Amino acid sequence: MPTDVCNHVKVVVRVRPFNKNEKALDTRKVVHVVDHHMLTFDPKENQELSFGAHKVQTRGLRRANKDLKFVFDNVFGEDSTQVEVFENTTKAVLEGFMSGFNCTVFAYGATGAGKTHTMMGSAEDPGVMYRTMREMFTLMDQVKEEKDFDIAFSYLEVYNEQIRDLMANVGPLAVREDDSQKVVVQGLSLHRPTCADDIVKALDYGNRNRTQHPTEMNATSSRSHAVFQIYLKQKDKTASPNPYIWEAKMSLIDLAGLESNAVADQAKGPGKCQQESATINRSLLTLWAVLNGLADRRDSKLTRLLKDSLGGNCRTVMIANVSPSSRMYDDTHNTLKYADRAKQI
Ligand code: ADP
Ligand code: MG
Repeated sequence: MPTDVCNHVKVVVRVRPFNKNEKALDTRKVVHVVDHHMLTFDPKENQELSFGAHKVQTRGLRRANKDLKFVFDNVFGEDSTQVEVFENTTKAVLEGFMSGFNCTVFAYGATGAGKTHTMMGSAEDPGVMYRTMREMFTLMDQVKEEKDFDIAFSYLEVYNEQIRDLMANVGPLAVREDDSQKVVVQGLSLHRPTCADDIVKALDYGNRNRTQHPTEMNATSSRSHAVFQIYLKQKDKTASPNPYIWEAKMSLIDLAGLESNAVADQAKGPGKCQQESATINRSLLTLWAVLNGLADRRDSKLTRLLKDSLGGNCRTVMIANVSPSSRMYDDTHNTLKYADRAKQI
């Protein structure tokens, strides 16, 4: 087993382009990408601020700009490509994964900030999940003379503290730890891909089984955490009677939006959605506590599910997605604060 252990959580931020709505409303640009590692949130007015040619509209009394500088492992600007994001995030952890370390990559941010675009992408421009799988098949191919691989995947969602299998479309499923402290979801279906395209088809199929809320403003957004996991077993093709077997798990997660903003609240129906929001926020907070080593056994399905995949010998990449627009001011501020805290882990 390799001994280089890196507990550092890699934290990157991706700023998506202004969308039509934000452009039409001529909203202010509150995230200014300085370079590949730095951004300014709510910069001082003398920098280029408003979108388009119009003057910045201010309502009532102007509060002072926060003008906060943040530094991350990577900052991807509005015109960053899926390839750039992949090459600076999961590509780096794939090596660890191929050497037997569990890895976790998750996209975090408000609804509409670009999480699904980053993780799934589209058929024409696939995201991190597909690119990771393609690279993995290439890496396996390179060492196929020396090694045998056994690869399987599962796809589930955590919705209101319940686990559902997106491939078999069943649930709720129970999660427990086995004798070797490996997390096991009981009855979760495993699938064997032969190429990266199999994964894309599976993700597409699974996504259609995701719990969606039609009352939401963003029709494609979701209130559930989508957890895609790849299990890789490998063994040396030696003549030895006990070839060493490595086993590792990679979790690629599209987290539910952390809804704190007025826009999302207006878009939601009353009652039930507030409860959902509370559940999501609680599970994200617990996830953070786990990452921070503050908690390890609180009853959140997501954190129990990821118990063997965070901290310790695991490689973790957090992709924080944000909008550049003042319309999502509070969400962006929150997301950046969380991301900044995650750097200290
Ligand atoms: P989330 O999953 O965080 O709710 P989405 O990924 O669905 O957000 O993004 C919201 C919308 O913005 C989608 O229409 C998506 O295609 C678009 N979008 C997000 N990020 C980008 C990007 N980097 N470049 C172009 N379009 C993007
Ligand atoms: Mg989404």
